[in-house]
Amino acid sequence: MKSQCKIIAIVELILGVIGSFILAKSAGINVYAGGRNWTTTIFTFLIGVVVSYVFFVVLYSISEIMDNQEYIMKQLEKQQENPDASSPAPPTKISRSNSSASLLGETKSGPTDEEGWLCPKCGRLNQNSASVCSCGKHRF
Ligand SMILES: [Zn+2]
Repeated sequence: MKSQCKIIAIVELILGVIGSFILAKSAGINVYAGGRNWTTTIFTFLIGVVVSYVFFVVLYSISEIMDNQEYIMKQLEKQQENPDASSPAPPTKISRSNSSASLLGETKSGPTDEEGWLCPKCGRLNQNSASVCSCGKHRF
């Protein structure tokens, strides 16, 4: 896209110079005198060259702007892609697994603390009021 526009600009400059040369050749002929008016020829040629050069500069600067825009857009795309892909996903996964694990731990340990205590010897759930298990094991 950018290189195409630059090629068009260069071609326009060359064609402009050739075109102004042809124009000057035909415009410089003095029909009445039958000879060549060199002032008109050179003047026409110079105007043609200047006009084609101005167009060349405009086209070239447009291609430069397009090139810059393309570069900026690519940079923005890279910046947008990288943070989305890498950083946010793993922490959410870790926090989720952590919270679920802590929730499971709470559900396991929570009711036993409130309802009673598990005997380390036989595994029976005893009341908090009972300090000794039915198997004879003391709570503490
Ligand atoms: Zn017991």
